[in-house]
Amino acid sequence: MTSTLPQPLPEVIKESGQREVFCGLTSIVWLHRRMPDAFFLVVGSRTCAHLIQSAAGVMIFAEPRFGTAILGERDLAGLADANEELDRIVAQLLTRRPEIRTLFLVGSCPSEVIKLDLAKAAERLNLQHQGRVTVLNYSGSGIETTFTQGEDGALQALIPLMPSSDQPQLLIAGTLADAVEDRLVNLLTRLGIDNVATLPPRRSTQLPAVGTGTRLLLAQPYLSGTARALIDRGAELIHAPYPLGLQGSRAWMAAAGAACGIAPTAVNDLLDPLVERGQRALAPHRETLAGKRLFLLPDSQLEIPLARFLSQECGMHLVEVGTPYLDRQLMAAELALLPPGTQLSEGQHVEKQLQRVMAQRPDLVVCGLGLANPLEAQGIATKWSIELVFSPIHGIDQAADLAELFARPLRRRGALTFT
Ligand code: SF4
Repeated sequence: MTSTLPQPLPEVIKESGQREVFCGLTSIVWLHRRMPDAFFLVVGSRTCAHLIQSAAGVMIFAEPRFGTAILGERDLAGLADANEELDRIVAQLLTRRPEIRTLFLVGSCPSEVIKLDLAKAAERLNLQHQGRVTVLNYSGSGIETTFTQGEDGALQALIPLMPSSDQPQLLIAGTLADAVEDRLVNLLTRLGIDNVATLPPRRSTQLPAVGTGTRLLLAQPYLSGTARALIDRGAELIHAPYPLGLQGSRAWMAAAGAACGIAPTAVNDLLDPLVERGQRALAPHRETLAGKRLFLLPDSQLEIPLARFLSQECGMHLVEVGTPYLDRQLMAAELALLPPGTQLSEGQHVEKQLQRVMAQRPDLVVCGLGLANPLEAQGIATKWSIELVFSPIHGIDQAADLAELFARPLRRRGALTFT
C-alpha cells in the first residue's frame, strides 16, 4: 500500500481557545536521551527551566545534556547584551562539555526571547566555533508548539545537514525507544529490506542521507513539518497507519514491504505468527476495554491512531476523538480505519471540551496532566496522554502493553468502586 486516497471526512469540530498542553520544550526530555552527543540549550525564563526540570525529573545542572540560558532583566534591557550573554554561556558550555557535537538553541515564549533572532545567533555561533560543534535552532515555545511538535521542530532543524543520496533506502522518521526501534528494524531487515536508516540518528553527527531513492516511513504521526521537508529533498512518503496496535503495526510494515518491492507472502509469513501471538496477549485487556466509552482530548497528536487501535482491536466505543492539529495527508490511512461517523475535533477549547465530557460521561478520558485530577474527582477514569510518548508502545510485540495502559485506570476505578 503505497498510496491511500483521502477518505471523505466525518464532520470535524474546530475549536480554538484556552489550551492545556505542554509546550515543545518537553520533547527535549526524549530527544536528549536519543542523541547523547547533542545538547539542548533552552533560551528562556525560569518558568522554562522549571518545566524541563520537572518534566525530566532531574535537576537541570545535574543533567549533562540539556540546560537553560536564563536571560536576566539586565540582559533583556538590550538585544546586544542578550546576544553577548548567549555567546558567553555557549562558550562556557563548550569548554565544560567537550563531548557536545550538536548544540540546539531552543526558543521559548517570553517576548524578550522572541525578539532575539536565534537563527542569526546560531549562524554567528557556528562561525565562532567552526569545526568544533554545529549550532542549530528551533522553537519550543508554548505559543507555537505542543510537546510533540517540539520534536518536529528539532528534526526539521537537522534536515538541511543531511547529505544527499539517491540510493534506495527506507528512512524511519520519529523517535522511538531504542529497544523498540531495534526490534522494528530487525523485522524490516528480515523482510528483506536491507538499507534501513533512522531520523533522528543515535549520534547527532551520523545523519542519514536523503534523496529520490528514499522511501519515508513515519513512526510518529506528529511530524508534518519533517515529512514535508524530507519530501522536498526527494523522499517519497509511504502512506500507512502508524505502528500502534497489532493491525496498525502490521499494516505499517506491510506498506514498507510493498514500497520496497517485497512480496506480500513474505510479509504474511513473517508477521502472521507474531500477530497471532499478540492477539493472545491482548485478549485479557480487550475483555476490560470492550464496550467502554472513550473520549480523547487533544494533546499529543497520537489520538487518532490510538482511537483506531482501541476501537478496532479492543472494542472500545469512541465518543469523541480530539487532536490538536489534523494533518489530513498524514492521517489519511488512519481516518479510513475509524468507525464510520466517529466524532472528531481539532484544536482546543478546554472549557467547551470539558462540558462535552461531562455531558457524555465516558468511562475513560485520555487527556493532559492538568485535566486528569478534575475529571477523576468527577468520577471519570483518565489516562495521561504524555505517558504515551515516554512508553515503548510501538510495534506488534507492544500491542498488549499499549492496551494495558488503558485497561489499568479502568481496573483501578472498578476496584475502588466495588471494594
Ligand atoms: Fe512556559 Fe513558554 Fe517556557 Fe514553555 S516555552 S515553559 S510555555 S514560558
